[in-house]
Amino acid sequence: MKKHNFYAGPSILPEFTIKNTAEAVTNFAGTGLSVMEVSHRSKEFVAVMDEAQALFKELLNIPEGYEVLFLGGGASTQFCMVPFNLMKKKAAYLNTGSWAAKAQKEGKHFGEVVEVASSKDANYNYIPKDYKVPADADYFHITTNNTIYGTEIKEDLEVGVPLVADMSSDIFSRPIDVSKYALIYGGAQKNLAPAGVTFVIVKKDLLGKVDRDIPTMLDYRTHIDKGSMFNTPPVLPVYAALQTLIWLKEQGGVEGMHKKNIEKAGLLYDEIDRNKLFKGTVASKEDRSLMNVCFVMNEEYAELEKEFFEFASERGMIGIKGHRSVGGFRASTYNALPLESVKALVETMQEFEKKH
Ligand SMILES: *Cc1c(COP(=O)(O)O)cnc(C)c1O
Repeated sequence: MKKHNFYAGPSILPEFTIKNTAEAVTNFAGTGLSVMEVSHRSKEFVAVMDEAQALFKELLNIPEGYEVLFLGGGASTQFCMVPFNLMKKKAAYLNTGSWAAKAQKEGKHFGEVVEVASSKDANYNYIPKDYKVPADADYFHITTNNTIYGTEIKEDLEVGVPLVADMSSDIFSRPIDVSKYALIYGGAQKNLAPAGVTFVIVKKDLLGKVDRDIPTMLDYRTHIDKGSMFNTPPVLPVYAALQTLIWLKEQGGVEGMHKKNIEKAGLLYDEIDRNKLFKGTVASKEDRSLMNVCFVMNEEYAELEKEFFEFASERGMIGIKGHRSVGGFRASTYNALPLESVKALVETMQEFEKKH
């Protein structure tokens, strides 16, 4: 039976990425060696790193003055690396979910943290819009896509202070204007590559402004100076990331992806709204994520939750269990998820409705 992979992360990757990476595990770039056993300073791997950085810049149309880094430590290490490098005295945070809250918590090690707004009281089921960012904040931190709660900030905000965004789960899903951001970061394991590599896009002229000493490995300038080769980079995830970037370009880049993502998520949200058994968890439609579609059983049918889960599993739907803090279901519709998988899930929901 065909499996439909709706996991939230690590999550589905393009077949192209899996196939080419598997090939490179046994024979990398015609060397007869595995990509796992060659020096990261070999000319073959240096070419991979260079091409990955160049394609990253090309696909996101990254302007001059920005650098793309591939680091270890996950998005969670960026929660502290960002304030370490950018916070002089004070930073503002928008609390839209548990990842956003974790980022905010780390900021407190480095100075004053202002939470400009929070949707925590409503279990993060909306994106706050009415807030003021203090003009003297060193930066404003947002989480564009809230993977757990299925909400997303889909436009590039302008708030008058440097904007920092965690884009772990929606990078490359839609066009963004990088010039509106000071720094963008994310773990690769949602929309780009296997776990183990973290991307950072950073505007260089914002660095070097803080007084504190920064440990070498946590200083962005170290990695800029050495082209993400100061220490051994996560070679296999970087190789896989390059494959995904090549695939993305073939798919029409982020514009092409965006169209497909609107279609996929739209199909699923339409069914959730139509089907009498289900309802979405996000309060207003404009905040609905294109990447993580969260839904629950309607109250009258609450007792059918377990049955639907089994019904869907029998039809090859994998990874649709909602995060424990939301419950119900979450279908992640990342770039690599084919439209066919969304159609299969919609049909499953329709069959289940007929059964009841
Ligand atoms: C998954 C996720 C993280 C955590 O990433 P790690 O690489 O596991 O540290 C942070 N932010 C968001 C939005 C995520 O989806």
